[in-house]
Amino acid sequence: MRLFLTLSFLLLTLSCVLAQDAPKHLPIIDVHVHAMKVNPAFGGDMCPWFLKNMPGGDPGQPPPAFINTDCAEPLKAAKTDQEMQDAVIATMKRLNMTIVAYGDPAILRKWQKAAPGRVIPGIGISSPKDMTPKAFKDSLSSGFYEVMGEVAPQYQGISPSDMSLDEYFAAAEQLNIPVGIHMGTGGNGMANLTSPKYRASLGNPFLLEDMLARHPKLKVWVMHAGYPMIDEMIALMGANAYVYVDLAGFIWSYPQEEIHDYIRRLVQAGFGKRILYGTDLLVWPKLTEVSIGMIENANYLSFEQKRDILFNNAVRFFRLDESKFK
Ligand SMILES: [Zn+2]
Repeated sequence: MRLFLTLSFLLLTLSCVLAQDAPKHLPIIDVHVHAMKVNPAFGGDMCPWFLKNMPGGDPGQPPPAFINTDCAEPLKAAKTDQEMQDAVIATMKRLNMTIVAYGDPAILRKWQKAAPGRVIPGIGISSPKDMTPKAFKDSLSSGFYEVMGEVAPQYQGISPSDMSLDEYFAAAEQLNIPVGIHMGTGGNGMANLTSPKYRASLGNPFLLEDMLARHPKLKVWVMHAGYPMIDEMIALMGANAYVYVDLAGFIWSYPQEEIHDYIRRLVQAGFGKRILYGTDLLVWPKLTEVSIGMIENANYLSFEQKRDILFNNAVRFFRLDESKFK
């Protein structure tokens, strides 16, 4: 009887311990997620940091592969929308993440429903052909979208200061909505592969200056941190106190030493409080952990600097209520 009681007590204690929630992960905000329908034609596996070798090619030969799968453990692409959603939501809950996501409105709504309070929807335009300024302003005013992004005129051969985009930025300024603009890299051979209008020169952060001058109340973050134009990026941030950057895309595609040099340089130049963590999540769910690992393992950053990049800076930039993340 005594043994039975002791055993029961032990079991009870054990179940109480197990029932307690695991300690909550410190909050993370990912400002750059693409919520899109899974396309089986663009669903291959991928090796992170695949741009460590760009041997180029010959115009008479087939174009170089955009992605490389020659590594010990390629990341698997989700095969269905549901598989992608389940994986994204599970990661968000496990890592206590909130995401800023753009893309298919139906997918955005499903993700929001599955993870209430953790998905901040954004809507972007990349050329005036996408929608009229009036339709865009109506969408921004609907209350559903809280962010304007991803704005990517570079792929269309358009400068972000081109007057054809001005009314769209004016709408965001008027409605007090932050804007994320793609500036910088597009991957290996973008102009030869899928985007003949893509111009590397149109990723120059200085091209934002005229637009920023016309919209002094606009809050802009430069997606992909203008990689690889670090000097121009630093000069632009020095001159424009409201400009932030995100680390999306290049954090998992270029060689790791190159990525760390770029982040280190931004911090060294005094902009550690204006770097936002972003993945550029597409179809490979594990990309989130791989990319966050780059910040976690950056031994040149202090714990506080990592927390700024992974969370604090985004709270400030997007004017979020910090108490909601406790
Ligand atoms: Zn982009």
